[in-house]
Amino acid sequence: MQQGPDATAPQAAPANPAPRDACPACGEREFRTLFRGTDRLFGTTEEVFLIVECRQCRLIRLFPWPDPEKLHQYYPPDYWFDPAASTADSLAELWRRIVIRDHVRFVRRALAAAPPDSLVLDVGCGGGLLLRELHLPEHRAFGLDFSLDAAAVAWSTNGVPVACGALTRAPFRPCTFGVITMFHVLEHLYDPSAYLEAARELLVPEGRLVVQVPNAACWQFLLFGANWNGLDVPRHLIHFRESDLEALLEATGFEIVRRKHFSLRDNPAGLASTLAPWLDPMGRRVRRADGSPRARLLKDAAYFLLLLAAIPFTALEAACRAGSTVMIEARRKP
Ligand SMILES: [Zn+2]
Repeated sequence: MQQGPDATAPQAAPANPAPRDACPACGEREFRTLFRGTDRLFGTTEEVFLIVECRQCRLIRLFPWPDPEKLHQYYPPDYWFDPAASTADSLAELWRRIVIRDHVRFVRRALAAAPPDSLVLDVGCGGGLLLRELHLPEHRAFGLDFSLDAAAVAWSTNGVPVACGALTRAPFRPCTFGVITMFHVLEHLYDPSAYLEAARELLVPEGRLVVQVPNAACWQFLLFGANWNGLDVPRHLIHFRESDLEALLEATGFEIVRRKHFSLRDNPAGLASTLAPWLDPMGRRVRRADGSPRARLLKDAAYFLLLLAAIPFTALEAACRAGSTVMIEARRKP
């Protein structure tokens, strides 16, 4: 999933159909193997998976898909982020508040285009930072996440009410929200179209959907292949290119409004973790790899320098519309 200490996507407890062998986009069973890989970020398993490309529609996916119970084990319990855990975590939280501004601005613009006084739902909201930073009036921001712990932090730290569960069974009436956001969610799902259809149901007419996923049509994937952090084996089930995501949005009743290829939160950190996965802060925390506080400080500093050094390349990549993530605003078709 996404990079560094910013993980907010849902823990895997998918309320989705059983895994399939066929391509989720076109049903084709034939594929071409691109790479082999294992969980190099968190080390939750030594099992080797394939990254394959559909012969028919060229969608890239993990193969085979783990069944839901297995997939659940690939998400460490502290997969999301607790800002109050330590001083270093508080500093990291400050950094997160700075770098999430891209996302906040993008969502605000979508909100400005939605009907007045719209409600906002953030799917895979984690600790609720994005919703808090939107600074909406009370009772206008809601979160959804699989993690009860994340929901508790979102409420106690950020004052955001969060429901726990899947979007396909979320406790909201149809036509409730003006804006629904899904940052780094779709690539974790067996059936992303079910989520998009559910989002469409929950949106008001003219409502806006904001989605962000790693973009397999990026330079980093071309350059680093199996080592590209955006693959996040075995947690990412589908590796969308921008065009795959757009086709899926169109097929589920949305019209693309605009795209953004750079994310200060995700793209430089992703390249840093591609180059030095052993320095990735979330990976170190999950693997308890730091030993002493001093070792942690040194590794944090090294990672931060690497991240800063990654900004020019990732900005260039994004300027050429080949950024390692893509953020899309789509309008609900009538
Ligand atoms: Zn296909």
